[in-house]
Amino acid sequence: MAHRIVVVGGGAGGAEFATKVGNRYGHAGAVAVTLVDRSRTHLWKPLLHEVAAGSMDMHDHQLDYLAQARWHHFTFALGALAGLDRAAREIIVAAVTDDEGQEILPERRIGYDTLVIAIGSESNDFNTPGVRDHAFTIDNTWQAHLFHRRLVNACFRANYAARGEVIDIAIVGAGATGVELAAELHNTLRVLTGYGLRSFDPEKQIHITVVEAGPRILPGLPDHVAEGTLKVLSGLGVDVLTSEKVVEVEEHGLKTASGREVRGDFTVWAAGIRCAEVLRELGGLETNRINQLVVKPTLQCTRDDDIFAIGDCAAAPWIDGRNVPPRAQAAHQQSSHLVATVARRLAGKPPAAYRYRDFGSLVSLGRYDTVGQLMGFISSEKFRVEGWVAKFFYVSLYRQHIWALHGFWRMALDTMARMLRRRIDPKVKLH
Ligand SMILES: Cc1cc2nc3c(=O)[nH]c(=O)nc-3n(C[C@H](O)[C@H](O)[C@H](O)COP(=O)(O)OP(=O)(O)OC[C@H]3O[C@@H](n4cnc5c(N)ncnc54)[C@H](O)[C@@H]3O)c2cc1C
Repeated sequence: MAHRIVVVGGGAGGAEFATKVGNRYGHAGAVAVTLVDRSRTHLWKPLLHEVAAGSMDMHDHQLDYLAQARWHHFTFALGALAGLDRAAREIIVAAVTDDEGQEILPERRIGYDTLVIAIGSESNDFNTPGVRDHAFTIDNTWQAHLFHRRLVNACFRANYAARGEVIDIAIVGAGATGVELAAELHNTLRVLTGYGLRSFDPEKQIHITVVEAGPRILPGLPDHVAEGTLKVLSGLGVDVLTSEKVVEVEEHGLKTASGREVRGDFTVWAAGIRCAEVLRELGGLETNRINQLVVKPTLQCTRDDDIFAIGDCAAAPWIDGRNVPPRAQAAHQQSSHLVATVARRLAGKPPAAYRYRDFGSLVSLGRYDTVGQLMGFISSEKFRVEGWVAKFFYVSLYRQHIWALHGFWRMALDTMARMLRRRIDPKVKLH
């Protein structure tokens, strides 16, 4: 019987893993690979702030799982992970319903010999009152799309009313997502007005505030990256408030612990991460306080050697008692490591330990700048990058993901096609 590999979550880590093991083993029939995702399409998550700002059309970049499965010799099963029966070695996939609540697929059980859980993370509202009711999150494509649509509608409304009313955007969290979104929005809302919004002046009518609980922006990234980013944001007129912990979000703004009130017709919550509730006590597996599955250095769950976790939903040990950070590059590395692990398992060998290699961090401030720090290729010295060089490396990260999903030549063709399309498409998404 074929060895059954089930991958739950087709994101930065899971989609690459399913593709690679499908390519390597799927057509021979010795291994049966199944990818389970609650969504029908995949979009690389680090692009979501661009979808939210309107500089990217999600439909141009989404990958259809069914097509990917056909091309790369695996099976796709639509549905959300709902449970795990470790004794029977089966996962439980929730029923799928349509927009009207009609059932499309019933609840199902899928058997595995090797299970890989890669369902990512979502933003952590730390149970702050009002976030669920009044704040946007951009954890998935649909949320990013909804935010963009509402914002464009607000601009159309303000343009038609022609009363000069100000649209306040408050972004909670000055991590990479928050600051990248602020810069991207600043640009796209200016471009948008060029498409006929003659009575709308973004210089006066758009006000963006970034609110951060920590003492400085981009916690966890080097000082010079934070300083460079702050300089760019200040130059754009974005207000950056640090050491301000948000304690409540309301319909038209938020309050901080110091008593400050910040206006926000649109509040975006982009502070911290946590994993889905389904992981808490999933089949009795060990989880931490943010619901990540605790894994050994081999990426095996501490309580079950047949279950692996990768990407944001895995608490994998790194250095100095810290875990591997929740980043796309970690998900990418872990997916490659796991392909080698599968080969070892099939050969009856024990899995090898994974070691995270931090290649540095880059922050894209849209057309204004890109700043960051990269690890040297020869020595382990870190060096600063900015401007076009940094932009090149930033864009390369996505190209690397496309390469992993489609191979080199399709990635190269896709890159060229996009360069050509840029000349004929509007510069921002207008609907
Ligand atoms: C706006 C934004 C910008 C970012 N920018 C960067 C960046 O510049 N650089 C960087 O390194 N990282 C960045 N990140 C973080 C990066 O996106 C994540 O670390 C990375 O995507 C994690 O990969 P993953 O495979 O673990 O999960 P994801 O890529 O999130 O994929 C998870 C998959 O699981 C599916 N899923 C979720 N729940 C279930 C369920 N119950 N059942 C079935 N399927 C499920 C989802 O549909 C999704 O397909 C950014 C994140 C955001 C939100």
